[in-house]
Amino acid sequence: MAQSATISFWKLSIALAAALLAGALLGWFAGGHVASGVALVALFEVVLLLTRIRHQTQPMMPAPAGVSPLQHDRFMTRSRRIASSLRDLRNAASHLPDAVVLLDQQQQVRWFNHAAENLLGLRRPRDRGVLLHQRLATSDLSGWLQDGALEPINDVMAPGHPESQLNVSMLPFGRRQHLLLARDISHLNRLEQIRRDFVANVSHELRTPLTVIHGYLELIDPEDVPELAPVLGEMRAQSKRMGQIVEDLLTLSRLETQHQVADERVPMASLLATVRKEAEALSQGRHQITLESTAEADLLGSPKDLHSALSNLVSNAVRYTPIGGSITIRWRRTPEGAAYSVSDTGFGIPTTHLARLTERFYRISSSRSRDSGGTGLGLSIVKHVLNLHQAQLQIESMPGIGSTFACHFGHARLLTAGGSDEN
Ligand code: ADP
Repeated sequence: MAQSATISFWKLSIALAAALLAGALLGWFAGGHVASGVALVALFEVVLLLTRIRHQTQPMMPAPAGVSPLQHDRFMTRSRRIASSLRDLRNAASHLPDAVVLLDQQQQVRWFNHAAENLLGLRRPRDRGVLLHQRLATSDLSGWLQDGALEPINDVMAPGHPESQLNVSMLPFGRRQHLLLARDISHLNRLEQIRRDFVANVSHELRTPLTVIHGYLELIDPEDVPELAPVLGEMRAQSKRMGQIVEDLLTLSRLETQHQVADERVPMASLLATVRKEAEALSQGRHQITLESTAEADLLGSPKDLHSALSNLVSNAVRYTPIGGSITIRWRRTPEGAAYSVSDTGFGIPTTHLARLTERFYRISSSRSRDSGGTGLGLSIVKHVLNLHQAQLQIESMPGIGSTFACHFGHARLLTAGGSDEN
């Protein structure tokens, strides 16, 4: 009875370990980094448990009293089969393509796989039991580990393979233990670079022919060819739109490759006045436009990029608010710093679209956007400009009621209006 319970425990353990490994591998290849990490932790624990039990049962001891030699032989055969399955499981875990390091509560290394040797430069048996942040002292990962590794870190140079960049995350489990996962993202970065270069080159190449076409269209006087006047008007509008798309794509390419912005004083009183004037010109009296400025602060950053971002939001508010609606531009203090916001009483945006609005060419309604003269790149530019200023875009909207787009700037980006740095 006791033996059959033991055997079913073995079977159950093996089945569990195999299922966890399959889940981990499947999740891993499907890109579910964290979920497969959890499965891997559980797998590792099962492997440890089985190893321990194996060691307890391994010595070829004579059959204990009360157990027949036949039963004992069967038991030993099963034990050997289990040991072999165990080796297979450990091998599979060792050969995962991403680096996996198991850490105890002091961040000492308990186990790591082959990819961790290659990507993180760990060596066995030397690095078993070492403090990981000390072992990686020359890498950016060391400071990240010492700061608690709370958020995943991207684009870190691989300590064991300097040509590779890593995405590294930490997964807590058990009693204050951790699983460190590192994925080589160099090939993704290369693809992203190819995409960026392609978009920048195409946009650049399109600029000159478009300028020529636009120039010739402007030279033709519709009064000379009245029968072509409507076609001419449409051609001019479309070439202008294409020109704007190309300019926006070039702006985005520049913003994407930029890592920081100029630290210039951006006087908000004049920027807000300009933005308001632009809104009035675009609206042509069809909306009620109000400006409320109470922050008494200037911004520190790129005047050109901030102007582009802030006026984009106002232009959207005008374009997506029906005639007679109202638009309010605000510049006010917040506990975290200051916020620039544009509220409208326009069409509004269903919640399901909010998370994707800042993607390039993402539109709720292509026809409405096209009719309103949009390029589909405005909010993407806003997001990039704000990122470069360590600011966040917050969008609140109710279909049929209206929307508020708010840009939240931290204290580090504020200057007392007409005065000095606030910090
Ligand atoms: P577009 O050039 O199409 O306006 P944007 O990136 O500026 O591109 O905006 C993306 C989409 O977000 C728009 O197509 C529109 O559907 C929606 N949108 C942006 N601002 C507003 C707003 N104030 N009210 C309603 N919808 C908006």
